[in-house]
Amino acid sequence: MYIGNVKNESVLIDLDFLTGRQTDQLTNFANTTHLVHREMLASLTNLFQAAKVEGFDLAMTSAYRSFDSQKTIWNEKVEGKRAVLDSHSNNIDLSTKSPVEILFAILRWSAIPGGSRHHWGSDIDIFDQSALIENTRPLLVPAEYELSGPFYQSTLWLSENMEEYGFFRPYQSGNGGILPEPWHLSFRPLSEIFLKQFSYQMFVDHLNASDFLLKKEAIQNSSEIYHRFIKIDKN
Ligand SMILES: [Zn+2]
Repeated sequence: MYIGNVKNESVLIDLDFLTGRQTDQLTNFANTTHLVHREMLASLTNLFQAAKVEGFDLAMTSAYRSFDSQKTIWNEKVEGKRAVLDSHSNNIDLSTKSPVEILFAILRWSAIPGGSRHHWGSDIDIFDQSALIENTRPLLVPAEYELSGPFYQSTLWLSENMEEYGFFRPYQSGNGGILPEPWHLSFRPLSEIFLKQFSYQMFVDHLNASDFLLKKEAIQNSSEIYHRFIKIDKN
């Protein structure tokens, strides 16, 4: 379906778009390989420029992510090829867990394939390049963004200023079942609309039509997954 103008172009929202299988509405951010929604580009550019004036060199670790790349992350976690962390960023030993326990352990940090806000191009993971220690990469763990972490100052600045550019943090403590992700920003004028359009029935249809590990368990728990990990629009 088409919704009204976000800015000046119509935005098509269908199941393929919402689940990361369509890139028609996306564009590269600046001179990077990151894809973002074209209706967010100007606001994101303005936010990064305003941060730069204050000495923060914002960069992204991810923006748009396709269904296939989310599926790869997901399957590697299920197979134990990629770490699954608990709320203290420690490794969880999956060998003692049931399939449903594994499903919910992964969901605390990673979205189910097709259920990530990164599929929309309206959501990004960011850090401050100027605060990085040379030759290191951001780990995307809460400690980096907290007091005494390298990205604490830019996090404070963003908290004060990002709303003016349309951005907010959807993953705060108390919002659904996902642990707080201070690095994850969302462009509210778009993501609010996308989330509203993404009905439970669409999610179920998507699960039935898709292929990934623990699919059967995901279908059995679809209502809980949808309400705790996708429909988390409390702020
Ligand atoms: Zn993210």
